[in-house]
Amino acid sequence: MAKEKKLVEAITSMDEDFAQWYTDVVKKAELCDYTSVKGCMVIKPAGYAIWENIQHELDRRFKETGVENVYLPMLIPESLLQKEKDHVEGFAPEVAWVTHGGLEELQERMCVRPTSETLFCDFYQNDIHSYRDLPRVYNQWCSVMRWEKTTRPFLRSREFLWQEGHTAHATAEEAEARTIQMLNVYADFCEQVLAIPVIKGRKTDKEKFAGAEATYTIESLMHDGKALQSGTSHNFGDGFAKAFGIQFADKDNKLKYVHQTSWGMTTRMIGAIIMVHGDNSGLVLPPHIAPTQVMIIPIRQQQEGVLEKANEIKEALAKSGLRVKLDDSEKSPGWKFSEQEMRGIPVRIELGPKDIENGVAVIVRRDTREKITAAIEELPQKIAEVLEQEQHDMLERARAHRDAHTYEATEKEEFKKIADEKPGFIKAMWCGCQECEDAIKEEFGVTSRCIPFHQEQLSDKCIYCGRPATKMVYWGKAY
Ligand SMILES: [Zn+2]
Repeated sequence: MAKEKKLVEAITSMDEDFAQWYTDVVKKAELCDYTSVKGCMVIKPAGYAIWENIQHELDRRFKETGVENVYLPMLIPESLLQKEKDHVEGFAPEVAWVTHGGLEELQERMCVRPTSETLFCDFYQNDIHSYRDLPRVYNQWCSVMRWEKTTRPFLRSREFLWQEGHTAHATAEEAEARTIQMLNVYADFCEQVLAIPVIKGRKTDKEKFAGAEATYTIESLMHDGKALQSGTSHNFGDGFAKAFGIQFADKDNKLKYVHQTSWGMTTRMIGAIIMVHGDNSGLVLPPHIAPTQVMIIPIRQQQEGVLEKANEIKEALAKSGLRVKLDDSEKSPGWKFSEQEMRGIPVRIELGPKDIENGVAVIVRRDTREKITAAIEELPQKIAEVLEQEQHDMLERARAHRDAHTYEATEKEEFKKIADEKPGFIKAMWCGCQECEDAIKEEFGVTSRCIPFHQEQLSDKCIYCGRPATKMVYWGKAY
């Protein structure tokens, strides 16, 4: 019993210290670990299995829109990185350089890709000649490296996994449509699979991607009221094409520059899942992403017939398409419950000799701990229903939490008070000038998260300078 208590007690309460709670969950749920490589992490099987499911779900959705996967080198020669001015300025402070090949110093140093726009441009410049070559709708799954000063597991690490889509189009309209299309893919994925509600919008010029004409984003709210940029989609216009000379002969036989986009989502979404859904017992995984959806925990498993029945149930559930495991280890049931809860497995089945006698089993939901008794032969159907309900409820709970932590301000003092006292999103009007945006960050400690597509006219004045405003912006503290 003392040992069982330890597993749960080792987690700091989230209200007491959210950052420590997060670190505890990451560690206790065995998602990742630190390494001797500073700022980088080992993603352990429980964490990597979540990433594999994210990959699988996203990849399927990408391909439905015509995306094809490719792979490009991880090293970028310095001269390529230099070609687009804004881009190099944006990334130079955080790139890692390779200066030697074996014992020889390289004539030109190369950076480890922080992102691959320049390589794709180099590739497209050689590969695209005619309008018949367009569009190019490519994506690559890879890791990138950014030399971050402060790091946190999943949220910010020097090397992280992601996908980066890079497309080239004949017209500006087509590129813009693709940019929005991929943003919508991300938004639907977050809501339907991760049960994380998002705000869709456009980044201000200050916050947009280095080299982009427009950056669109989905923003989500974590349990502690901080925002997380969850996926971005950029429209480059023909800026990169001009810098790299990517031209094609159009139908009218004229040489034209292509219009490009890029879009990415990373392993930080695992951090988002933890911070949106987790509780003081550990991780809570949405059923659609959970590597294991059901854990069967036998009670008095040494008694004759218990393990046999448990195995029978496992087979039946697996056959119906559920991801199920049976914990038949020597640990006590109480310990197994704590472990299943810590790992966020959405549902457990408790099954003892009495239950078997009565032909039933007890289903326990991870999110609400609600207990449901069901007939053993009806378990496959019943569990599927419970998982769908849990998925649905988790999204609605996250949405209610976000809405309850979204505030409106029409006066500067009111804005300041909310920013100081109430973690969450603040909706307020903005005149569109960067001086006000900078001042708001400086004085109130919040940044513009996005100019949402869904606009509301809260007042006609900028929250900071009082001049006419037409844009409503979501502000907040962010990870
Ligand atoms: Zn202003």
